[in-house]
Amino acid sequence: MPRDPYEILGVARDAGEQEIKKAFRGLARELHPDVNAHDPQAEEKFKEAAEAYEILSDPERRRTYDRYGHDGLRSGGYAPNFEGFGSIGDLFNAFFGGGSGFGAAAGGDVAVAVEIELLDAAHGKTVEAVFDAVERCEHCKGNGAEPGTPIETCERCGGSGQLQAVTRTPFGQMVRTVLCETCGGDGRVPKEPCHECRGRGRIQVERRLDVEIPAGIADGQQIRVSGRGHAGDAGAPPGDLYVLVRVREDERFVREGDDLITAHDVPAPLAALGASLEIPTLEGIATVELAPGTQPGEILTIRGEGMPGLRKGRRGNLRVVVNVVIPRRLSAEQRELLEQLNESLTEENLRSQEGMFAKLRRALGSQAA
Ligand SMILES: [Zn+2]
Ligand SMILES: [Zn+2]
Repeated sequence: MPRDPYEILGVARDAGEQEIKKAFRGLARELHPDVNAHDPQAEEKFKEAAEAYEILSDPERRRTYDRYGHDGLRSGGYAPNFEGFGSIGDLFNAFFGGGSGFGAAAGGDVAVAVEIELLDAAHGKTVEAVFDAVERCEHCKGNGAEPGTPIETCERCGGSGQLQAVTRTPFGQMVRTVLCETCGGDGRVPKEPCHECRGRGRIQVERRLDVEIPAGIADGQQIRVSGRGHAGDAGAPPGDLYVLVRVREDERFVREGDDLITAHDVPAPLAALGASLEIPTLEGIATVELAPGTQPGEILTIRGEGMPGLRKGRRGNLRVVVNVVIPRRLSAEQRELLEQLNESLTEENLRSQEGMFAKLRRALGSQAA
């Protein structure tokens, strides 16, 4: 004895069309053999749910069932129509593919890229994103008909928006439901297509949108702007806009996380003598003390002159790699001075304060900031 379709779908006797649809959609998702391969009964249960839906989604069948039960349906010539995969596939196609017949489709997402400078990435910037998006045609209010002209039932599909395509498969004949391409699944076609959108009801427009890029953003990060993508079908939500942020390479600074790294040339005698150095930072100039005897590759850290953290707000540091430049193309006089200097050097001048491991670590580029 077949079960009560209301009970199977878990809906009340007076449930509305939408409620029934929703209940079945939920069950179908749960029970679909593809999703639920581990449960051997899933397919059986799915079939049962599909049959219940077939009864309750058809007003006349539902009335007959309400009055006379399963017997009434049978004597009225109705038999559940779920032999094999074909009609189950039908239902699935209707629910999960195509989008025909079961509610309006949401709009698609749009991706756009914008390029900013490193300084903009440090401060944050409002950037105008320019992109193409589909919008509802205002001339026809989205229905595709030239205003004042009638919309007629699609002759190709008889208004259902769907066509049956029969294919042979190892499981036997399979009937697939596909979208009617004449009416695009609407079931209705305008007698005179809208002049603006050629009957599509939607048009592609160039849209400009100010997008706020937060301080601290890194190259390759995306910003999602909800609801600014393509328009959906009437009554359905629009898609989202994804803004890919490209940060242009800077000639002076390399970024590492929230830190910036730069190199600064220092003549060898100055590295030996020590000096006050003026180092260009992202936003200006910082004065840094170079200790006497600074070695090539040593790193000076300027606190707080890096990039702001995207979340923390605290800025990283600027690391300055000391690039000791050995003088070349010496004049006779310079040569003489250096020779004198060289002869005067003692063991004390050349002894390194760091051990070999520290030297190697530095040579390999790792250091404690
Ligand atoms: Zn139009
Ligand atoms: Zn059609």
